[in-house]
Amino acid sequence: MKVLAVAPEIFPLVKTGGLADVTGALPGALVGYGVATRSLVPGYPAVMASVGRKKALHRYDALFGGKAAVLAAEIAGLDLLVLDAPHLFDRPGGPYGDPAGGDWPDNWRRFAAFSRVAGDIAGGVLSGWVPDLVHAHDWQAAMAPAFMRYGGAPATPSVVTVHNLAFQGQFSADIFPSLGLPPAAMALDGVEYYGGVGFLKAGLQSAWAITTVSPTYAQEIRTAEFGMGLDGLINARAADLSGIVNGIDTGVWDPQTDAHLAATYSAKTLRSRAANRRAVEQRFGLDHDNAPLFCVISRLTWQKGMDILAGAVDSIAAAGGRLAVLGSGDRALEGALLAAAAHHRGRIGVVIGYDEGLSHLMQGGCDAILVPSRFEPCGLTQLYALRYGCIPVVARTGGLADTVVDANEAALSSGAATGFLFAPGSAAALMHAVRRTIAAHADRAQWVSMQKQGMKADVSWTRSAGKYAQLYASLISRRPAD
Ligand code: ADP
Repeated sequence: MKVLAVAPEIFPLVKTGGLADVTGALPGALVGYGVATRSLVPGYPAVMASVGRKKALHRYDALFGGKAAVLAAEIAGLDLLVLDAPHLFDRPGGPYGDPAGGDWPDNWRRFAAFSRVAGDIAGGVLSGWVPDLVHAHDWQAAMAPAFMRYGGAPATPSVVTVHNLAFQGQFSADIFPSLGLPPAAMALDGVEYYGGVGFLKAGLQSAWAITTVSPTYAQEIRTAEFGMGLDGLINARAADLSGIVNGIDTGVWDPQTDAHLAATYSAKTLRSRAANRRAVEQRFGLDHDNAPLFCVISRLTWQKGMDILAGAVDSIAAAGGRLAVLGSGDRALEGALLAAAAHHRGRIGVVIGYDEGLSHLMQGGCDAILVPSRFEPCGLTQLYALRYGCIPVVARTGGLADTVVDANEAALSSGAATGFLFAPGSAAALMHAVRRTIAAHADRAQWVSMQKQGMKADVSWTRSAGKYAQLYASLISRRPAD
C-alpha cells in the first residue's frame, strides 16, 4: 500500500506537540505491515535547511500567490515530499505563528495550499507515484480530503486523524472564492461551518474515515462536553469513526540507550535512576533528599489543567512532595509557577521553555509525572513515563484513561497497576491522587513492582500501526473499480 501522509509537523524536523511524534514515528512502524508512506510536509526553514538542493518533482507557477515546488527528500529515515513555497513557509517563528506567538494571518492560505497540493498528488501530478490512500493529520491537512472529493481524486480513500479537536481552523467565508473549490462545496455537507469555512469540519465531512488518537477520546468527542461544536457531525459519521491509541518511538525513548540521561538503566537496574534524579535536582535547584519527586512536562494551558496545578502547588509541597515543572505557554501560568518556585525554594523548581533533552532526563529521574488534563486526546508524556519507570498520575480522560492502570486494590493484588488516576478538572481529586502516590512511594517493594509493570507495557507503535494498516486496507478495498 502506498500512503501519502499529510503532516503539518514531523519529528525530528518540526515539532510543537504530540502530532509531530506521531507523524515522525508511524511511517517506520507501518513498514512491517506492507505500507510505504511518503509524508508531505511544508517547507519551513528548518525543513528546507535539511533538504538542501533537490530536483523538483512538480512545479507550480502560482500556488495561492507564489511559485512553489514539490521536492523529494529522505531525512532521518523519512521519505518526504517537501512543499517548497517560500511565500507561504519561509518565515521566522513557529509553524503556525509569528515569533511573538500570534497566529499568522494567512494561515488559511498556507494550509489550504498545503492541502491542495496533497489533493493534487492524490490526483496524480507526480509522475510515477500515485498514493493508494491519503492520511491527513489535523486541521492544517484536513482540507486535503475536500480537495480530493471536489477535485481530481474522489475515488482515492482518505483518512483524517484528529489529534486535538480544540484546533479546528475556522475562517471567514470571504476566503472561499480563493480556495478554488466549486460553489457546491460551500454547503452544510461541504466546507461551510457556521457561516464561514471550517478546515477540520471539511475534512471530517469529506474523509472516508475519521480516526482519533485513543478509543476513549473517540467516544468523548461525540458528546457536547468534548465535541467543541462538531459533536453533531461526528455522531452522524460514527460508523466511520475509530480511536487508535498513539505509540511512541521506542528507539528515541529508550532508558537503556538514551544519551540525554546522566545514567542509562533498565527494569533490572532501576537504582541507576538515582543519578538522573540528582541531575534533575541540580537543574531545578531542588534539595537532595528522598521525598517523592513529581514532574510536569507540558504546554502550560487550561486544557492541560495547569491552572489546577498552579492552585495545588502549595498543597503538594505541604504533603511532602517535590515538584519539577518544564513547560511554556500561558504567560499568567508561567508567572504563577515561577512565583511558587520562589516561595518553595528547594521543593519546587520551574524551567520555562521547551527542552527535549531535559524532558528525557526528567522521565529518567523523577519518581512520578503529573498529567492533570481536562481533556487529552491521547497524551504522550504518560507513555514515555511508563517506559522510563516514572509513575504516571493522570486525569481519567481520553488516552490517559486508556493507557494507565490505576493502582486500586484489585490492580495492586493482580500486579496490573501502573499509575494513579483521578477525576479531571478538580484540585481536590488531583491532591487525593498526589497523596496516594506519596503513600505508595513509601512502600519501596510495591513502588518498584509498579515501575516494572509500567516498563513492561507495550507502548510501541507495533499494535497501533497494525490497526492503521488494517483501516487503510479496508478503505482501499472499498475503492470503486476503475
Ligand atoms: P500535546 O501534543 O497536546 O502538547 P502530548 O502529550 O500529546 O501533548 O505531547 C506533548 C509532547 O511535547 C511530548 O513529546 C512532550 O514530551 C513534549 N513537550 C511538551 N512540553 C515540553 C517542554 N516544555 N519541553 C520539552 N518537551 C515538551
